[in-house]
Amino acid sequence: MPYAAAVRPVALPRPTRPSRRTATLTLEGAFDVAARVRALRAAGREIADLSIGEPSFATPLHIVEAGIRALRDGETRYTPIAGIEPLRVAIAASLHRRGIADAHPDNVIVTPGAKGALFYALQATLDPGDEVLIPDPGFPAYASVAAFTGAEIRRYRALDASGAVEGIVNAITARTRVVVLNSPANPSGLTYSHNQIAAIGDAVAGYDITVISDECYGNLLHDDRISAPSIAALPGFADRTIVVDSFSKSYAMTGWRLGFALVPESLRRTVLRLAVNGHSCVPGFVQRAGIAALTGSQGAVRRMRQELRGRRDTLVGTLASLPGVSCAPPDGAFYAFADVSRAAARAGRSTDAFADWLLDRGSVAGVAGTAFGAGGEGRVRFSFAASPDQLALAVEALRALFEGGLS
Ligand code: PLP
Repeated sequence: MPYAAAVRPVALPRPTRPSRRTATLTLEGAFDVAARVRALRAAGREIADLSIGEPSFATPLHIVEAGIRALRDGETRYTPIAGIEPLRVAIAASLHRRGIADAHPDNVIVTPGAKGALFYALQATLDPGDEVLIPDPGFPAYASVAAFTGAEIRRYRALDASGAVEGIVNAITARTRVVVLNSPANPSGLTYSHNQIAAIGDAVAGYDITVISDECYGNLLHDDRISAPSIAALPGFADRTIVVDSFSKSYAMTGWRLGFALVPESLRRTVLRLAVNGHSCVPGFVQRAGIAALTGSQGAVRRMRQELRGRRDTLVGTLASLPGVSCAPPDGAFYAFADVSRAAARAGRSTDAFADWLLDRGSVAGVAGTAFGAGGEGRVRFSFAASPDQLALAVEALRALFEGGLS
């Protein structure tokens, strides 16, 4: 008798239901828009895609070659949870160059992108009921993952650096356990000065607070500084800061999934336990590519920064010239965070509807500022890390769209 016939029909169990805990995790606006762009393109539409924060540059060849060489050499096995030593040494040296003199290779934990490091950093430091301060607008994973820990989220306005410092200083209470910083910031581009970092340090110093400092755009500045000041460089702060960083942006390595956390000794074993349960280890050949990125020529990074500066000026100039739109040039990162509130109000559209209209009518994909929190109301984020072709297409489409009126 066939098996199916032998099984007595029974009432089907309820469909598998997801855990309640995971309901707090959100999706990410930029990935959502990127998926819509793919669908529109598949349907034959020409779209200028400035949605996702991804450098259009190819990963520099010497980095790719190092990864290929490692694969050929058989680096296809598990690696230590924290990452291979030469990469941790190279990362610590790069942090010394950023002024974090206390960075030690033993406190570096290599992760699958900065996303992995952020997830572990928030899980390692927050319990239900703890308070966490998160920038608003800010990178969506902060609030999503912090909510997943059960912590209470308080958001500080982060449209400009001095406003953000004031917001942090005023929001700290005895219950604050974690302050998330991001400088240069996604989406606003705000970048703290040394004095502003020192002011945040003073405000935090009297409390039992861990700072999670996301420095993914740390060397993507649009002036002549090599890197943005890090709070971990303040005396004593390496012991209370988790620095999160990535190879994705500075080395055009988004798809390699390589990042790291520099963790205080008191949190190292906890983050390692999270890492071994989450991903075990990062592929060895990816880590070899990371060593080449940090120890090889930085010429490609310099050229990329220079090129990004030009792209920023073109895009910001165009946005600022549109009726009802204003846009200040960001100090760092690669986003124009345009204020479209007057144009949206004139057209009777919400921020989300305005971003949808830009895509549907104008064929230009940006991300509604509200995807980064209520503080992004009235804004749309455009990435100028997109290729020159995409930027030229966007500039032309935006001009034509606004010339045709806002309906
Ligand atoms: N942090 C910020 C502020 C980001 O903008 C991003 C990516 O957009 C990430 C972290 C995640 O980067 P990764 O590709 O290293 O996971």
